[in-house]
Formats: sequence, C-alpha cells, structure tokens
Amino acid sequence: MKTKPLYLDDSYLKEMDADVLEVLPEGEGVFRLILDQTVFYPMGGGQATDQGKLEADNWSGEVYQVLNKQSLLSRKLENRDGEIWHFIKTSGTPAVGAKVHGSINWDRRYKNMKLHSAGHIIDFAMFLLGLSPKILVPLKADHNKNPHIIYQGTLEEDIKQKLEDRTNELVAKNLKLTWYFQPLEDLQKEAIYLIPGLPTNKPLRTLKLEGVGAVADGGTQVKTTGEVGKINIESIEKEDGLTIIRYSI
Ligand SMILES: [Zn+2]
Repeated sequence: MKTKPLYLDDSYLKEMDADVLEVLPEGEGVFRLILDQTVFYPMGGGQATDQGKLEADNWSGEVYQVLNKQSLLSRKLENRDGEIWHFIKTSGTPAVGAKVHGSINWDRRYKNMKLHSAGHIIDFAMFLLGLSPKILVPLKADHNKNPHIIYQGTLEEDIKQKLEDRTNELVAKNLKLTWYFQPLEDLQKEAIYLIPGLPTNKPLRTLKLEGVGAVADGGTQVKTTGEVGKINIESIEKEDGLTIIRYSI
C-alpha cells in the first residue's frame, strides 16, 4: 500500500488529513502505521525524520520517527516500495480505516529543511568554482546534527575561505530553489551531475537553483537561498581519499 508523499510537492505543508491503511504493533504502546498520504518526511537522503502528532476520534499519538523503504532496509525491517511508515507512541488502539489528522513539529522540520538546502547551496558553489564534479565527485551528505557533505578525491589547495565566500554570494543573491518531476532524459539536459543508478522508469524529482543548474533530489527544500541565511564552512577534512566539508547555518 502506497503513501502519497505530500512533502515532495509542498515542503511548507505542516498538516494533513489521512486514512489509516495498515497498522502493525511494534511493542507496548508502539505501533507503525501506513497512511494514504502524509506531510511527514521519512528519514533519508541525509535529512532527519520528521516528528509530530497524529490524532483520531478516540486516540492520539506522538510520531517519533518516519521511515521509508531505504531507511527500513538499513534497519533490516520488511518493506514494500512506496510505503511510508509512521512510528507512534499512543495509549490508544489505532485501527485500519480510521481518519487521522497529522501535524509535524514545524520548528524541527524547518531547521532540517534549511540545513538540507544549505548542503545543496554549498554543492552548487563547488560546481561554480569548477571543483565538482570534475575534480571532487559528490558522494553523500548528512544534514542532521553534524552536517557535512562528502566528495571522492582530495585537493592540495585550501578552499575553505573561497568556498564560504562563493556559497554566501549565492545566499546574498536570494536565488530561487524550485523542484519538479521530469523524465531522466530531460533531467540530464539541465543537471550539473547525476548520481549513477537513477531509475529510468519513472519521473525524477529535480532540484533547480536559479541560473546555476539542477540535481536529482528527494528531500524538502526552502524556496530561496536567502531563507537559509549565512552558511559557515566549519572545516574541510581529508580522509582516505575523501574530502569532508563540515558546515553550519
Ligand atoms: Zn538533497
């Protein structure tokens, strides 16, 4: 049973109404639920899980984590494609067919969204500096408690100051970030790089920075670079042939 991911179209949605499609008991007062649609962002793509509340007629619960196929796989939990599981603590008994009202902890989400967009703005600055993906190849990123992005390859030159300057130029210009779905062949035309192994059988979510270019992305984003505010490059470390850029906002 699939869940419509409302956050992919509108990162600013804070609440939704939904139907409970499936309920699995997870332990004492803990359940996991599939809903027909959700504003809750599941852990993944380096962005932390949303948290918040689900309320039905005769029960309410705290959503403490939300997982999708990728994040379930990493915990060796069974999953099916397109499902988003809401893990809740409740003294009630959720049942299939219930109508629920969901609301996310917006402060937490908005901070995660800004951290996530900041990582991409740094990555776009790396592209504009001619460093990525030619010399340093984007590998992965984490936008949680210790935000960092990792590139394959290392540099002799110390780029900390010029990267921070270029990144904050993009912030100061208050450029638009937009996102939309398109087939791989269209994404290829505007992408600054694409990670290998993207699916070819479905539209891909594209993140575009005005005047710079696009990447494939599945997370939540703010609408303009200015919304993130000043981005600090905390350190650039070299480790086992990798470059690790740590940042804060
Ligand atoms: Zn991303």
